[in-house]
Amino acid sequence: MSYISIKNVSKRFIRRGQWTEALRNVHLEIDEGSFVSFIGPSGCGKSTLLRIIGGLMEIDDGEISIGGRSPLEMQSAKQFGFVPQAPALFPWRTVLQNMKIPFEVNRKYNARNEKEQTDPIELLQSVGLGDFLHAYPKELSGGMKQRVGIARAFATGAPILLMDEPFSALDEITREVLMLQLMRIWEHHKKTVVFVTHSLQEAVYLSDKVVVMSSRPGRISNIIDINLPRVRDESIIGTEDFR
Ligand code: ADP
Ligand code: ADP
Repeated sequence: MSYISIKNVSKRFIRRGQWTEALRNVHLEIDEGSFVSFIGPSGCGKSTLLRIIGGLMEIDDGEISIGGRSPLEMQSAKQFGFVPQAPALFPWRTVLQNMKIPFEVNRKYNARNEKEQTDPIELLQSVGLGDFLHAYPKELSGGMKQRVGIARAFATGAPILLMDEPFSALDEITREVLMLQLMRIWEHHKKTVVFVTHSLQEAVYLSDKVVVMSSRPGRISNIIDINLPRVRDESIIGTEDFR
């Protein structure tokens, strides 16, 4: 039994009186605890599919369930952590204070079993920000802000993380460092991750499963199971230089 089950899902948008198909008859099964990437040309429906999984958008046809519940139920039970292209950080708060935002806006996070929440300091250390706990966002580079966004999504304890091109605005080296850090915390915290990207390198490096979408309105053209061991050897990219 798969965890996220997407059956025959279609989605259309109307714009200036014209219908655009964003997804057509999408079938997809995602296992619990797996890392899945959606890749494909711009406009192929990746973000739409991600938003549908996250309960932020309704479907026109088909069925979607996550552990037997609807995306909307999962959303209101705060089962998703979301990492956008550029995370929203409050400029008047330190890095550590920014980590607390999800808990302040959602009492449900607070109500959660302590065990499920993850120590924010530990998470910031694991993404190389241990020396920046009390820094303000304006003191951080783009890559560092992105790391706060990732650490914050993990801190909520939400079992499913949805990431929409989180590395697309970063240079190549920063991206490689973040990929490694993401892989490390993912392996440690065992969440289901759905990751939208334009980058084949990111998809292959990070995923258990790569879903290749076609620009013919929102169809899956291939699903690739990555059976190769991931590249985990830190010496290859020397992250220590980026602390
Ligand atoms: P991707 O993330 O792969 O770039 P999207 O899921 O954003 O693709 O978009 C898929 C298609 O749906 C595109 O043709 C896009 O223009 C259209 N689309 C997405 N969101 C909306 C919206 N809110 N209103 C109208 N059209 C939309
Ligand atoms: P970028 O996004 O600019 O490529 P990274 O996020 O990869 O940068 O950061 C590279 C390293 O440079 C950081 O780990 C940190 O040690 C250092 N660094 C970047 N910006 C600052 C800053 N404003 N203050 C102190 N150190 C910084």
